[in-house]
Amino acid sequence: MRTSRDQQSLSYPLRLPDEIQANALRLLDVSREVINLTVTALWDRLDEFTPRTNTYAYKQVEEMIAPPLVHGHRQWRCEAEQAGRILRGQAERKQQFALILPLLEQGMIQYEEMQPVPILKAGVLPYAGDDGHRMGQTYRMSYDLDQKRLTIALRTPDEQGIWARTWRENTIQMTLPDRVIERARAGKPLAPTLREIVEADGTRYAVLDFIVEVPVEKQLPFEEIQTVLGFDWGVRVLVTASVVDLDGKQIGRPFFLDTGPFDGRQARLRRQIDQLKAKVARLEKQRDRFPVGDPRRKPSEDVLPILRREISRCWRKYEARNNDLGHLAANTVLVLATAFDCKLIAGESLKSMKSAGRGRGAKGRWRNWRNNSQVRGELWRVLRYKCFLAGVRLEWQQARSTSHVCPRCGSQANTYTSPEHRAHINDWGAWLCCSHPACLWNGSRDYAASVNIARLGAALIRHAHTTGRVKHPVITDPSVQPASYIGTRAALRLPPMSLRGHLIASGRIYCNGWRLSVKLRSSYATPIMLRLCG
Ligand SMILES: [Zn+2]
Repeated sequence: MRTSRDQQSLSYPLRLPDEIQANALRLLDVSREVINLTVTALWDRLDEFTPRTNTYAYKQVEEMIAPPLVHGHRQWRCEAEQAGRILRGQAERKQQFALILPLLEQGMIQYEEMQPVPILKAGVLPYAGDDGHRMGQTYRMSYDLDQKRLTIALRTPDEQGIWARTWRENTIQMTLPDRVIERARAGKPLAPTLREIVEADGTRYAVLDFIVEVPVEKQLPFEEIQTVLGFDWGVRVLVTASVVDLDGKQIGRPFFLDTGPFDGRQARLRRQIDQLKAKVARLEKQRDRFPVGDPRRKPSEDVLPILRREISRCWRKYEARNNDLGHLAANTVLVLATAFDCKLIAGESLKSMKSAGRGRGAKGRWRNWRNNSQVRGELWRVLRYKCFLAGVRLEWQQARSTSHVCPRCGSQANTYTSPEHRAHINDWGAWLCCSHPACLWNGSRDYAASVNIARLGAALIRHAHTTGRVKHPVITDPSVQPASYIGTRAALRLPPMSLRGHLIASGRIYCNGWRLSVKLRSSYATPIMLRLCG
C-alpha cells in the first residue's frame, strides 16, 4: 500500500475556565481594536499582500506600519499576524475578482471600493507571532499528555487596563479531551489561537484553539482503488453498509448498525420536551389572564424560567446524544472500510430527500429523530474529517431510486411492508422485491440501497479510470453494473455469530483477530449493536 504523508493542522477549541474569561475577553477586545485599525490603515495597500514575502503574515505587516496602539512588542506581532492574515486573504480574493473583471461591462470599479474594509466583529488572536509556548512573552503553555493536563498563562490587561508583569504566575489548569491527546501524541502542537465565540443571544466567551500538526495519509489514486463501501440510512436500522468490487461483485455480507433501545430513549426525551412545552403554554395563558404588574402573575412568572431551563437542558441532552450517534456511525463505517481495505466510501448525498418521508406510522414521529439532519450532518462531518486523515476517499452519491432498484439485475423493484405483505405495494416498506421474472431477488430495502450506493461508487471509479474525471451517475445509468453476491470470498471474518454485545464488549471492534484502532465509544447505558447478517 502506498503511504505518502503530508502535514495538516487540526484545531480543537477548548473553552477557557471561568476564572480567566473576563481577562481573556478584555485581551480580545483590545487586540481586535488594534487589528481593525491596522487592516483599515493598510486597506489601500492591499496589492502589496499578493506576493507572500514571508511565511509569517506579521513580518510583512511590521515592515509596512508601526503599531497603532502599543501594548508590547510581542502582543503587536500577534495582532499584526491576524491583520496580515485578513489582508492576505482579501488580496487573494481581489486577484480572483480580477480574473472575472474583464467579463463585467463596467470594468472601472475598484475592488477596495466595492468591498468594505473587513472589520473583525469577534476577537481573534493567533499566538503564532510570539516566541513559542516556553519562551512566549504573551502566553505560556505546557501540557502533560499522561495527566491530560494543559497549563496556560495569558498576558492580559486587568479592569484598569494595566498589563500586569506577574501574568506568568497566574497559571490556569485545563483538562485535555481524549481526542486532543490522541492527536497531540501523533503530531506536534503548534502555537494556539485565542478566540471569542458570540452566541445567538449575545453571550460571549473565550476559547483557546489548541492546534496540532499531524501527518495525513495521501489519498490513493483512483487506479489503485479496487473496492467500495456503500452505506445507506436505514428504515429499521441506522446505517447499512455493503462492499462491492469494481467487477460488480459484492464482497461479504452486509452490516447493520442497529441502535436498539436508543430510539426509545430519544423518543421518551422528545415526549418529555413536549410535555414541558405544554406546561409552559398553560402557565403563560394563566399569567396573561392578569394585566402586567398584577401580583397574581407572580406564581406563573416564578415557575416559567425553571421550566424553560429544563426544556433547554433536555434539548441539549437530545442533541448531544444525536451527535454521539453520528460520531459512532461514522467510526463504524470507517472501521468497516479499513477492514475491507476500501479506499472509497460511497454514501447517500445529504441533499437527497430520500429519507424525508420515512418513519411514518404509529411510532413514526418518534422514529424520525434518526432521519433528522443533525445525526446525518454529524455523521457527514466526522466521516469527512476522518476519511481525510486516513487517506480514504468519500464520495456522495445520488440517492434517487436506490431503494427501488434491484441490486442484482438492475430492474425496477417495489417495496412492501414485510415479506408476508406482498399484496400491497408500500413505497416506504422495509422489504424490496425485484419485479423481473428471471430474477425476483428480494431482501431488506436498506440492504438493497447500500449495495446500490456501493455500485454507484464502483461506476464512479470505473469512469475515473477511463476519463480521469469524477462523475456521479444515477442508479439507472447504464454504466452502473448489477452486483453479484460472492459471500464466500469474504475478506473479513468476524467473531462467532452471537455478535450482539460481543463485538464491542470492550468498546472496540475486532476483525480477523486483530484489533482495529478505531474505537467505538458509547455514552449510552445500552450498547449500540453491530449485526452481521447473511
Ligand atoms: Zn432483480
